[in-house]
Amino acid sequence: MTERRTGFFFDEKCLWHFGKPHALFFPVGGWVQPPNAAGYCESPDSKRRLKSLMDVSGLTAQLDVRSAPMLAREDLLRVHPAAYLDRFADLSVKGGGDMGFEASFGPGGYDIARISAGLAADAIDAVLRGEVHNAYALSRPPGHHCLPDTGMGFCLLANGALAIERAIARHKLSRVAVIDWDVHHGNGTEAIFYERPDVLTISLHQEKCFPTDTGRTGDRGRGSGEGYNINVPLLPGGGHQSYVDAMELIVLPALERYRPELIVVACGFDASIVDPLSRMMAHSETFRYLMQATRDAADQLCKGRVVVIHEGGYSEAYVPFCGHALIEALSGHRTAVTDPNLEISIEQQPGAEFQKLQRRILEEQARDL
Ligand code: ZN
Repeated sequence: MTERRTGFFFDEKCLWHFGKPHALFFPVGGWVQPPNAAGYCESPDSKRRLKSLMDVSGLTAQLDVRSAPMLAREDLLRVHPAAYLDRFADLSVKGGGDMGFEASFGPGGYDIARISAGLAADAIDAVLRGEVHNAYALSRPPGHHCLPDTGMGFCLLANGALAIERAIARHKLSRVAVIDWDVHHGNGTEAIFYERPDVLTISLHQEKCFPTDTGRTGDRGRGSGEGYNINVPLLPGGGHQSYVDAMELIVLPALERYRPELIVVACGFDASIVDPLSRMMAHSETFRYLMQATRDAADQLCKGRVVVIHEGGYSEAYVPFCGHALIEALSGHRTAVTDPNLEISIEQQPGAEFQKLQRRILEEQARDL
């Protein structure tokens, strides 16, 4: 029997996507001076440096590295209306444009976004076909904020939802669980599956970070989807322990109740302690823990079938260490890489009183589920 390895779905083209000129995430113009070389926070470098670190550490060599073709139009139409796709394609050949709030792109952006979605879809396919044990898709642009008819928050196509819809159609799945630990609310994925019981959506996010008006605990789904959406808004500054508590009190029990056939992770690294877009104070061991706990749940519930799709993460220096730790946990291969920021990050975690408060809030929410 051949060894079933971790698939790593990657395409250099995804790193060639670019948006309009920004300083951090402020569009240039008016009082916003054009930036220096660093510029737009949604840059390719956080992802490129993750892949580079994996190459240098020897981790890439342990993985089954694959690319994927652009997602087919018939599969895009499972989530997005034809008018949205036509407008995106048209702007893309004309040199670029905007598909919504903070959702700009340059020439060829439509095809790059289709590759990004294709990586996610093929990662799921490879796992469900048993070609690989589990998989990571280094998708870019990201997808979890994208709604069917509008892009937002750097997301141009709904990568995760598109990949899940194709998997449901091809493999006749009836229970897929999504865990979104990007620091921002997974509002797009939530909206797309809000009225359906066949996809359980769970989002852990910094309360009111982005979007500021979604991600509330009371939003539990609608109609036959009632009860199949779980939002876990976390207090800013919660750090490592708030993620451990959220997993133990809410996420893992929810997975056990739902008994998914497949677990899909919308994986941002923007909850890190040095991320410029959030205030959650997680570190590389938080991401290792999240992945290990999810992998253990997948082993117990769904033959280890877990697919991780890259979302946000804006510290070019630190995302590589968080991503590397997570992919080590996913693949079960530990390398010699150490996190230069770990010791100070652990020392800076919040005190016991804060952690008690956060845990009490989570316990209260868990009682209502
Ligand atoms: Zn994010």
